[in-house]
Amino acid sequence: MDYYLTVEIGGTQLRYGVVNEAFEAVEFEKEPNTGFSEAKDKGEYLAGLLNPWIKKYGKANFHCISLCLASLLNKERTVNYNSPNIKGLDNISLTGILEKRLGMRAFMERDVNTVLLYEIMKGNIDPAGIVIGIFLGTGLGNAMCIDGKIYIGASGSSCELGHIPTAGLDEACGCGKKSCIELLASGKRLAELAKNKYRCPVDKIFTAHGKEPDVRSVVHMAAIATATEITILDPNCVILGGGVMETAGFPFDLFEQIVRENLRIPNPRQSVKFVRASGDPAAGIVGAALNARGKLLTGY
Ligand SMILES: [Zn+2]
Repeated sequence: MDYYLTVEIGGTQLRYGVVNEAFEAVEFEKEPNTGFSEAKDKGEYLAGLLNPWIKKYGKANFHCISLCLASLLNKERTVNYNSPNIKGLDNISLTGILEKRLGMRAFMERDVNTVLLYEIMKGNIDPAGIVIGIFLGTGLGNAMCIDGKIYIGASGSSCELGHIPTAGLDEACGCGKKSCIELLASGKRLAELAKNKYRCPVDKIFTAHGKEPDVRSVVHMAAIATATEITILDPNCVILGGGVMETAGFPFDLFEQIVRENLRIPNPRQSVKFVRASGDPAAGIVGAALNARGKLLTGY
């Protein structure tokens, strides 16, 4: 067997591909996630996209299908509890549906976790100790890898950094509770500012309005959340990525300065090491293959 069939179900896009044993995407496609979101039969929809590749490479040559998505999952990674941006995916087993439909093993993981696995490989980062990923995109994503292994927590719901409570904030979050820091520190917040206040495309928000206090506040709140996690964990390395950080003019210097100002002296203020994520579009799907390899090696 030589290949992994992989799918990334993101907040706005569906990406899918075939990844080889060298962890290179030999096939890669993407489309808006609306088709999948609207599909009544999710298994049928994905099978329609993937079957041409199963035919081309031969079913017997695939280890498995491996998914990654922005979803709260159970500890066993077999049930999707809650995916705010995709319809019809709450409280179902997408892996179960696909195993039945495609007749191959299926694995599933949070997208931020597979992206972190990819970035550690791509950046040749020493996986010893703790490596964390901060992914500022539609939401404020976070992942943690300890000695090369993704940390998922006691119930499978670790690293929900975007949903830590913020004193004085009473707004409701899409996750079902109130006062989550992500309401102030996310691409969603920037998109609101771009649309309702600055009336500009969101990808121009930093170049055209980056000095405005409310735009800087988004950067500030994301930095505060990041500093909180670094204060607790003192990680070896912090990988910074996500759509907002890839936006032209994102103020990395300001972000890193605010994080450091909020860390203890002398360390980790001086010692903390930041690495920029690659921004590779195939990071999630290649990471999904890395995740599946880990599961298969440990006989999961
Ligand atoms: Zn929340």
